[in-house]
Amino acid sequence: NANKTFEYRIMPYGEEHLLLIARDITRVSQLEAMRKDFVANVSHELRTPLTVINGYLEIMPESDDANPFMKKAMHEMETQTHRMQNLIEDLLVLSRIEASSERVYENVVNIGSMLALIEREAQALNKEKQHTIKFHIEDDLFVYGVETELRSACSNLVFNAVHYTPPGGEINVYWSRQSAGAQFSVIDNGDGIEPTHLNRLTERFYRVDKARSRKTGGSGLGLSIVKHVLSHHNSSLDISSEIGKGSHFSFVLDNELIADQS
Ligand code: ADP
Repeated sequence: NANKTFEYRIMPYGEEHLLLIARDITRVSQLEAMRKDFVANVSHELRTPLTVINGYLEIMPESDDANPFMKKAMHEMETQTHRMQNLIEDLLVLSRIEASSERVYENVVNIGSMLALIEREAQALNKEKQHTIKFHIEDDLFVYGVETELRSACSNLVFNAVHYTPPGGEINVYWSRQSAGAQFSVIDNGDGIEPTHLNRLTERFYRVDKARSRKTGGSGLGLSIVKHVLSHHNSSLDISSEIGKGSHFSFVLDNELIADQS
């Protein structure tokens, strides 16, 4: 039936036979498509009113020190609008990646220039924390991929390391060729994450410490975006972490995705 979607599994059946199991998942995939559409539409619709609110907040005259309540209220409204904007932008990014039909093999990404941009942004973000952030990026590394997606994945991992490492920490970022492919890693010496949380971190809105994560202004969608980007590039996220020592986030883009420029 052309209108139906099936999921297939093949299992051994006795010594000589194979059993083919077809499951009708038409309803499940319709619901999933509706969910994705709904999230994308709601996020898009919320963007406009929020831009208006933010626009007015920006041009409001600074309240004088004589009215500390107003001053506090304005500050809180700005912080919360900013948080909501981040959340909506991330929801849209996630929807776009989920719906993406962009072919990974059609574009070549220059890793050096992509990371130069992320490095500048990370250093700007680092003003308060004063970490030592070092980038070790192999020269002339080119990969096939969707640049906006890969940039989003790498920057989320780098910015998380900046956010979740106490001031004065050390963060190292690597992109290098290994035997299995091109490897990206971010290593921090922050607080680390309890092992029980590790395999849930890439779920939407999953946070180890809700109150603390909110303070960073994060949306709770960062690692979920990373997971989707990587699955689009046929890769997956590796996380290892030790409490009190730090965390290590990495992924490998398969050798087939390395574009030889010579
Ligand atoms: P958020 O917007 O909350 O940062 P993410 O999906 O990017 O959302 O991350 C999910 C959670 O994983 C964070 O709330 C935080 O608890 C934890 N986390 C992510 N990166 C690190 C890191 N480098 N060190 C410690 N914890 C981290």
